Amino acid sequence: MTDKADKEDLRYEIPTHAFIALARRGMERISLDQCFLKNCDNSDPKLLKPFKKEEFEDDQKHVKKIYVKCKKCNGIFILKLETIKRVAKSTKEENQEPLSMGIVYALDEDGNNLGHLGYF
Ligand SMILES: [Zn+2]
Repeated sequence: MTDKADKEDLRYEIPTHAFIALARRGMERISLDQCFLKNCDNSDPKLLKPFKKEEFEDDQKHVKKIYVKCKKCNGIFILKLETIKRVAKSTKEENQEPLSMGIVYALDEDGNNLGHLGYF
């Protein structure tokens, strides 16, 4: 398949984990390799296929939307990754530790918000 490389690249666009702030217990780490649709408990990365990316930005933030198809429930959800610009670092410095100013949301196929997942 000629488009295989593109699809594999999309995987790397998704952070593997997000962090949720808990009231009493600090931060909890959750995997983003899971299906966020209701009634689906898929957490097998092999059954998740990112297939499309949308990217846009304004003065304040950079937004990346990764469309993911779940092969378990056959649904599609969108991971929306928002990076606040004033602390965003140059992409040239790939090796540096990312700052926790990215916010990740899950949306359903129609763009309805499924929830604020955490920070990345
Ligand atoms: Zn699913």
